[in-house]
Amino acid sequence: MIDLRNKLGIIFGVANKRSIAWAAAQALAEAGARLALTYQNERLRENVEELAQSLAGSITMQCDVTRPEEVAQTFARVREEFGRLDFLIHSIAYAPREALEGEYLQTSREAFLTALEISAYSLTELARAAAPLMTDGGSIVTMTYYGAEKVVPHYNVMGVAKAALEASTRYLAAELGQRNIRVNAISAGPIQTLAARGIGNLTTMLKHHAERAPLRRNVEAREVAHTALFLCSALSSGITGEVIHVDCGYNIMAF
Ligand code: NAD
Repeated sequence: MIDLRNKLGIIFGVANKRSIAWAAAQALAEAGARLALTYQNERLRENVEELAQSLAGSITMQCDVTRPEEVAQTFARVREEFGRLDFLIHSIAYAPREALEGEYLQTSREAFLTALEISAYSLTELARAAAPLMTDGGSIVTMTYYGAEKVVPHYNVMGVAKAALEASTRYLAAELGQRNIRVNAISAGPIQTLAARGIGNLTTMLKHHAERAPLRRNVEAREVAHTALFLCSALSSGITGEVIHVDCGYNIMAF
């Protein structure tokens, strides 16, 4: 069993009980870690505070990654309450709905910049804020998708954002390695969540993945969470800069 007692972590991206971030929070808390959970805005506060009540010693904070002052406040509070950090889970993505329908060719400048800011740049921003608190080394984990590597219909600008996110994972890993901070990405198969429902053809995607994946089913958030747990533990101490597919094997198939 993985033992994360005395470990301190922060998780970005819990919206509701279906969120991959929530599955990760549960797995990490079960292993004994103490957690800070952030939520994007006031609308999500009550829901996230209610979920957090089941995690002993956890704290919750509002943090919209497009607001530098909220990012600064979040890490100031973590410093105050925890004193240091051992891991950070980045489970955040957003693109305007109209950019996830129709042609990628028609992506507006505004939609492109928004998607890249929230879904990719935020990892760099949060890693920069977290690194000084990772005084005893650390692990940073982000969530990506196969649309970064291959064209997935309707995924559009989000695929471009995920490609930037995966490249960021490698650049950050190269720089932070000297401080014994590891940075990895999990490439999850499709899961029915709030964010996934924004993608034009989710039902088709789920069906297609389940039919083609070697394991002949879709992955569960719990399985992604278990990989996050492994990446936050000493069991993965030699792994950094990787994109680990947790997709029931879908990505290995040519057709
Ligand atoms: P989700 O909707 O539960 O989580 C997305 C989170 O991003 C939400 O908590 C939302 O509040 C947060 N967010 C959006 N804009 C933000 C901002 N400006 N500031 C702070 N937070 C913001 O959906 P999810 O599927 O759990 O998504 C989590 C991550 O997993 C995303 O990066 C997503 O791309 C990735 N992912 C999801 C799937 C899937 O099929 N569900 C597959 C592969 C990767």
